Amino acid sequence: MLTPNLTVNAEGHLCFGGADTVALAKQHGTPLYVMDENMIRENCRGYESVIAQEYGGRGLICYASKALSCMELYRIVDSEGLGADVISGGELYTALKAGMPAEKIVMHGNSKSDSELHMAVTRGVGRIVCDHLPELERLDRIAGAAGKTVNILLRIKPGIDAHTHDFVKTGCIDSKFGFALETGEAMAAVKAASLYPNLNLVGLHCHIGSQILETEPFAEAARVMVKFLAQIRSELGVTLPELNLGGGPGIRYTEADDPKPFGEIIRAILGAVKESCASAEFPEPFILFEPGRSIVGGAGLTLYTVMAKKTIPDIRTYVLVDGGMCDNPRYALYHSRYEALIANKAAAPRSASVTIGGKCCESGDLIGEDMPLQEAVPGDTLAVLATGAYNYSMASNYNRNPRAEIVMVRDGAARTVVKRESYLDIIANDI
Ligand SMILES: *Cc1c(COP(=O)(O)O)cnc(C)c1O
Repeated sequence: MLTPNLTVNAEGHLCFGGADTVALAKQHGTPLYVMDENMIRENCRGYESVIAQEYGGRGLICYASKALSCMELYRIVDSEGLGADVISGGELYTALKAGMPAEKIVMHGNSKSDSELHMAVTRGVGRIVCDHLPELERLDRIAGAAGKTVNILLRIKPGIDAHTHDFVKTGCIDSKFGFALETGEAMAAVKAASLYPNLNLVGLHCHIGSQILETEPFAEAARVMVKFLAQIRSELGVTLPELNLGGGPGIRYTEADDPKPFGEIIRAILGAVKESCASAEFPEPFILFEPGRSIVGGAGLTLYTVMAKKTIPDIRTYVLVDGGMCDNPRYALYHSRYEALIANKAAAPRSASVTIGGKCCESGDLIGEDMPLQEAVPGDTLAVLATGAYNYSMASNYNRNPRAEIVMVRDGAARTVVKRESYLDIIANDI
């Protein structure tokens, strides 16, 4: 199976985190997101233990909550000692409402509004990552008016090609995020940032992309960033104490995927940081990481009900389900691949090859094509695996479909952590 928390019980039903998914679908309805709390916690601890072992605990893991943002997730990661990376006022609001301490929050965004900056400043978030020069000026003005000084990091494009999909590649010069290193833009930003009285520049940030399967792009980014820290020291006489190296470790979406485990990636990054610091005689910085997908991705699956099967002779067979791009837009967006199985026939061989189609009025509303699957009939429960990241958080009300419920399972017991939207919720803001 794709992840060790997937098993098949005596009835041939797929179990996830010890819970029978067929029973969950019956009890809670479909589409249904199911998250495994133990796996989320294990992943949090995995990250923390590498920082403890390899770096004396001199770091903070900030869960990148855009992967899956809901109050219970912030409570879980907070209780494991993690902070959170937020990218909007809405994520910040959710994190604070859930009780996440503001000082453990990193605020991101390449296009933050004045009201989002004001909220971050007045609520006291620990660090704000600044993306462009006019933002420095706005943030300084907003902080000054609030009588606050804010800790900032500068988002740097280190010029690393991380061999991932173009849409999720962010470290190159042609990216909408941050200051480019090779053009001198980044150094100019460091100089500019030091001139604002209400901004306290504490360090640098980079994030080279997402679903990266190898260690080397990360290690290379770390070397480039430490080199730049040393260059800042020699040119400006300033020793910045913090380095935030973003997120991006990949996960297994299909049986064919073979990503480096995140522990290995973090170990390689910290090794590169220590080596580069030693050779530049630069003090080892406090390190921040922002993993999202690798904490929640494999810890989630989605259950659907099969509504119909449609065979187009010599072309393809569609298995049509009661959800689709409204709960998982990733195939429509990136042609992302998934594994699926019929949860109530999980022990049977996946002898068919099908296209899984959603219920939305778009031909591109697919969960995947050429997917091996057990023979499906209407009424079956379909499980799509590894949907814990960038599914619920990217869900929409397209076609006025209510957003699906999320249940959290722990040792076989399930509880609702996000309720299914009702039709009343759908019209709540209509006038
Ligand atoms: C998306 C993002 C992350 C998380 O990426 P994952 O691939 O989910 O680990 C972290 N930091 C920033 C700035 C991001 O944009």
